[in-house]
Amino acid sequence: MTVNVSMNALRDSKSISVSDTTVTIKGWVQDIRNLGGISFLILRDRFGTIQVTMPKKKIEPELFDSLTTLSRESVISITGEVKASNQTELGLEVIPSSFESYSDAFVPLPMGVIDKVNVEMDTRLNNRFMDLRKPEIRAVFELKSIMTGLLNEIMTANGFVNVFTPKIVDSGAEGGASLFKVDYFGKQAYLAQSPQLYKQMLMSTGLDRVYEIAPAFRAEHSNTNRHVTEFVSFDGEMSWISSQSDVMNMIENIVNKLLIGLKEKGKEQLSILGKDINVPEIPYPVLTYSECLRMLASEGMHLKEGDDLGTEGEKLIGDLMSKKGYELYWISEYPEVEKPFYIMEKEGTSYSFSFDLDFKGQEISSGGQREHRYEKLVERMKKKGLDPDNFASYLDAFRYGMPPHGGWGIGIERMLVKMLDLPNVREAILFPRDLSRLSP
Ligand code: ATP
Repeated sequence: MTVNVSMNALRDSKSISVSDTTVTIKGWVQDIRNLGGISFLILRDRFGTIQVTMPKKKIEPELFDSLTTLSRESVISITGEVKASNQTELGLEVIPSSFESYSDAFVPLPMGVIDKVNVEMDTRLNNRFMDLRKPEIRAVFELKSIMTGLLNEIMTANGFVNVFTPKIVDSGAEGGASLFKVDYFGKQAYLAQSPQLYKQMLMSTGLDRVYEIAPAFRAEHSNTNRHVTEFVSFDGEMSWISSQSDVMNMIENIVNKLLIGLKEKGKEQLSILGKDINVPEIPYPVLTYSECLRMLASEGMHLKEGDDLGTEGEKLIGDLMSKKGYELYWISEYPEVEKPFYIMEKEGTSYSFSFDLDFKGQEISSGGQREHRYEKLVERMKKKGLDPDNFASYLDAFRYGMPPHGGWGIGIERMLVKMLDLPNVREAILFPRDLSRLSP
């Protein structure tokens, strides 16, 4: 009897019980080694490889020739007998009796899957389907999937409702320069930079805790290792807060549970990547923006009050915090000029009730308490040079009863690459979009 098994099931059987069974296994031809009297074909699927062993004398010549001349990465099925083997890591090998080819791979390959050569990021991204055949590349995306699964669990347990807000919108929230224009039946529309305005409008509905994990679009004109034009944003908004600390506590709890969960559920992927996840203690230390300016000045970097900390500033703060043993920390109370109109001002000062969560010297999240008072909100819009008439439907939600509220946006990919110490946000995006890349 022939058993049609997945390679993983066969691997799990740990050889002995299936020894001498005839099986059919399917996968990609990873490698073929011809050693004269014996040849080996390494068949790979999502979970790993199995060795197909071909002693020349014991295999039909025609079958031997067909198998040993297959091109690498062709997709085939092989039927054969499972034998215990002390020569392979799995303790088993398959001796083929027949095979079927589903798809012959063209030669040469655009890039190797197992070759130990450094392939340029551009070549990898141009051939992402091939790049993703490497287990260590795929592991990042499996972790990303585990991550969003965990977030759904954690948010539901905290009473948040999963919402889906429009991605084609008539106004932006995060500044005009980074809006992508869309021709919407002759009208000017944009791709959503964030769900900001909608999640705030929802605070006036009684859905007092909402979250969304969805794409956000930014026409970023700079080419950096942390900016892309389409990323996945994990946004949350919650009502009835007393101060921004309520939001910060919530984020700390979510991130803490997420890291613990990933460490456990992502064990296999982390081991493929040779990484572990550190779970910093909560609460995370809080630095105010002004403290950061002083820390930077003491290192010879002199910024003026109101200046953006910038990539270099954030990095330097990260180095200083790392020396104190902190990977995750808050930077709070930014100058209000630096923050969008919807952020609440700290009255009587030039600061705001805002915060960033930084991870190893890079911002992964920003948030704050929002301005929920209609008049003040309109005032802030005008101060930022925005026309309130362009935000009429958003503002309506503030005219008929709006609870105090606050929230955040976390870049899923930025968080993942920082967690895994990967060099570029693109490592966590299947098909990245940036200034020069729209394909594949
Ligand atoms: P930065 O100053 O680093 O460009 P930002 O202040 O524009 O970020 P926010 O508008 O506060 O970012 O967005 C919230 C989060 O979304 C950021 O902390 C980051 O994790 C993520 N994010 C924002 N823009 C991008 C981008 N272009 N590519 C990838 N992630 C992004």
